Amino acid sequence: MAEMFYDDDADLGVVQGKKVAVIGYGSQGHAHALNLRDSGVDVRIGLAEGSRSRAKAEAEGLRVLTVAEATAEADLVVILTPDQVQRTVYAEHIEPHLKDGAALLFGHGFNIRFGYITPRASSDVLMVAPKGPGHLVRREYADGRGVPVLLAVEQDPSGTAWDLAKSYAKAIGGLRAGGIGTTFTEETETDLFGEQAVLCGGASQLVQYGFETLTEAGYQPEVAYFECLHELKLIVDLMIEGGIAKQRWSISDTAEFGDYVSGPRVIDPHVKENMKQILAEIKDGTFAKHFIDDQDAGAPEFTALREKGAQHPIEKTGKELRGLMSWIKDSDSDYVEGSAA
Ligand code: NDP
Ligand code: MG
Ligand code: MG
Repeated sequence: MAEMFYDDDADLGVVQGKKVAVIGYGSQGHAHALNLRDSGVDVRIGLAEGSRSRAKAEAEGLRVLTVAEATAEADLVVILTPDQVQRTVYAEHIEPHLKDGAALLFGHGFNIRFGYITPRASSDVLMVAPKGPGHLVRREYADGRGVPVLLAVEQDPSGTAWDLAKSYAKAIGGLRAGGIGTTFTEETETDLFGEQAVLCGGASQLVQYGFETLTEAGYQPEVAYFECLHELKLIVDLMIEGGIAKQRWSISDTAEFGDYVSGPRVIDPHVKENMKQILAEIKDGTFAKHFIDDQDAGAPEFTALREKGAQHPIEKTGKELRGLMSWIKDSDSDYVEGSAA
């Protein structure tokens, strides 16, 4: 059984006694920073000169400095810029200004696991990785709940890294939902696998193929949208509450029988072989290199794929339908429908 942590297992005072610099104010950065502040932690934000995020952070009353200035003040530096820029930000703006003995905290293990960042031996290196998008990390905290987190310690020269990791996780609300102890390696490999094979890659492709199959057979796109995309949430909600078993309990016997006989034909054993290959390429660094090399070249492949995804007919149908469904609110004011980033 994995080691689990809840609010009672952590002392908020540990992180409240530190000067914390949150580097980056995007999806995770804004959520960590605001939750820390509301938990009574001394937070400053580090951003590049001319950053687009500066105004948002300042509007919340947060102190915004350059990455170097924020780092120089901090006992704990939280690295929440996009993974592909972390190694450059670390080398140029964090490492030269890091106080002796200051700890580093990551929201995902990518740069440590694949060797893009090698911290000093004297730094504690920890991870608190929320298992959910940043906007939910903030929304759940504000509603008195939290998003579950993974906790890990890669380096512990102080001997107190776990106490700090647990304290930080509590401060961002993660231990209200529960924390699970892991390692940088396990978090990184399983996170990449989950998002590629199941949650993002797998689910997106499944929805698109379902929509294409129905519309190409002449069914109305609006009906196809409801069947293949909208209802997915209702099914997943039941899975979260009671596993696949509860989902099968709630659906009709017709749907349940169809689940058993057709599911394994759609997602056939081939798919599992493909998943094993994807996991192998994550573990041996092939995926990491593919991503970082493309980013370093100005992201031509990423940009083209993003554009192609946005052009899929399901997006046009969905946009029209959601406009008619007044009860679906987009609670993220910084999300612009149809925009790339
Ligand atoms: P975002 O893409 O949302 O981060 C954007 C922020 O980083 C902006 O404030 C941006 O500033 C700033 N930034 C970008 N480049 C630089 C730079 N060179 N120097 C300083 N600041 C910079 O990142 P995420 O929140 O998605 O990811 C952060 C970390 O959290 C990653 O390690 C990710 O894997 C992990 N994570 C993310 C999850 C998520 O929900 N997105 C879930 C769990 C983990 P500007 O406005 O100027 O561009
Ligand atoms: Mg991820
Ligand atoms: Mg149905």
